[in-house]
Amino acid sequence: MSKLCYCDSLKSFDICCEPFLLGKKSPQCALELMRSRYSAYVLRKGQYLYDTCSPKLKNKEDIESINTQVIDWIGLKVQSFSDNEVVFIAYYKVKNEIMVLKEKSLFIIIDKKIFYDSGQPLSAQINRNETCPCGSGKKYKKCCA
Ligand SMILES: [Zn+2]
Ligand SMILES: [Zn+2]
Repeated sequence: MSKLCYCDSLKSFDICCEPFLLGKKSPQCALELMRSRYSAYVLRKGQYLYDTCSPKLKNKEDIESINTQVIDWIGLKVQSFSDNEVVFIAYYKVKNEIMVLKEKSLFIIIDKKIFYDSGQPLSAQINRNETCPCGSGKKYKKCCA
């Protein structure tokens, strides 16, 4: 049985983000690219993140810092998307604390390929009554809070 993709698509990894990360397919829309970039963060694929950002964001040093990051990404929720914009919430763990990041990502098409162009942080917090992002199935307040 193949495992579910990291990006919350509910598809299996080998037909979802893996072909993008392996360079066998290119994302066709902002949502596919955003999801695959999230999976790249989970798997510490700095090169992929570098390759899929627009020229103005390219910075060689990023590859190394992503590949050696100490945080663990534990979940993604896409909130809304359009042709060039995705709003998402991502959860990550630092030591034993769960943190949340909400961002509006903007994408740009250059020569028929889509790239990540900029991100605008939005405020977010974990609701105490929501299901814990760690995947335990318990309420957050009774789990990792
Ligand atoms: Zn995926
Ligand atoms: Zn938990």
